[in-house]
Amino acid sequence: MKEQFAYLQNELDQMKEQHTFRELTPLQSEQGSRVTIDGQDVIQLSSNNYLGLTDHPRLKQAAIDAVEAYGAGTGSVRTIAGTLDMHNHLEAKLADFKHTEASLVFQSGFTTNQGVLSSILTDQDVVISDELNHASIIDGIRLTKAARKVYKHVDVNSLEEALQASHDYRVRLVVTDGVFSMDGNIAPLPEIVELCEKYDAILMVDDAHASGVLGQNGRGTVDHFDLNGRVHIQVGTLSKAIGVLGGYVASTQTLRDYLIHKGRPFLFSTSHPPAVTEACSAAIDVLQEEPELIERLWDNTQFFKEGLRSLGFDTGKSETPITPVIIGDEAQTHDMSDRLFNHGVFAQGIAFPTVPKGKARIRTIVTAQHTKEELQEALNAFEKAGQELDLL
Ligand SMILES: *Cc1c(COP(=O)(O)O)cnc(C)c1O
Repeated sequence: MKEQFAYLQNELDQMKEQHTFRELTPLQSEQGSRVTIDGQDVIQLSSNNYLGLTDHPRLKQAAIDAVEAYGAGTGSVRTIAGTLDMHNHLEAKLADFKHTEASLVFQSGFTTNQGVLSSILTDQDVVISDELNHASIIDGIRLTKAARKVYKHVDVNSLEEALQASHDYRVRLVVTDGVFSMDGNIAPLPEIVELCEKYDAILMVDDAHASGVLGQNGRGTVDHFDLNGRVHIQVGTLSKAIGVLGGYVASTQTLRDYLIHKGRPFLFSTSHPPAVTEACSAAIDVLQEEPELIERLWDNTQFFKEGLRSLGFDTGKSETPITPVIIGDEAQTHDMSDRLFNHGVFAQGIAFPTVPKGKARIRTIVTAQHTKEELQEALNAFEKAGQELDLL
């Protein structure tokens, strides 16, 4: 068996030499503001569990009740025998939440982007994409026959040039992340919306890191900028702030109907189990009934960001709970992450190719679950590790 995979093992060995090979880090506890890793109790600063919903009592109870009433799985894809009443119910709730006509849930945010982009464009169309968009958008674009243009990161002049150079296509689709996951900056949606209206382009916004975080009750960037009704396709994930698993598109009834017939991950992959579906549904209720969670998230964000900045760290252009601590050097970044762990903080280093060379960073995300004491403890760990490495 071994020799068949020697060519892959060679590549892995090279990665080990370049210190880019990563082991998975198993948690020995549930997700939370503190977790157990390697038998050590540490403060978690690397999850996307913004609101602490992964272990919220209402989500857990909804999942348990769903298993009791409907079982562990669905036994089919949505389009054959795997649509339960709860699937449609969740979609109606999401559409209502996003102030759109309809919505459709996919197995993940990744497959949502892939499914939407790959199915709605043909070789008569063009897709215009921010250069730092998420991998799932890039892969979705790879699956279309549409022409592709990439504009400079959040640069509306570059976007306008791309739109001007795209007059000959049937459909022009502009796609952007709402919040960019490595820097925590927000896309300039008001300007992007104006350009899309001026050039009659369809706009698709992926709000994976904004759902549950920005806008009224966590409705996302579109609501945050008061642009309801002016963004044609909103993608969200149920896997980050919502705390469970899945992705959805919120748009028109036409798009929903079309994707039910043409969205390949939707058509050819089994539907979400009852526990997942009902836990997601409970999470949307929590967003609307416990707005204090989002307030605490932003309060913690401000406290932690200010703390890092006053220690002298470079936190880039973050405007959201995603706060990078930019170190630059890749080896030093991994060293910093290891030292933070020894001081009781789990914060992963992120290096090339996920971020540009020389821009390696520790990426932190605070949650509503962190106490001020935990965040202060984390800041103390950053101070110690930063001093050990002569970064401050
Ligand atoms: C995480 C993420 C996704 C993927 O969502 P999953 O539900 O985890 O598959 C898609 N887009 C963006 C911008 C993301 O950050």
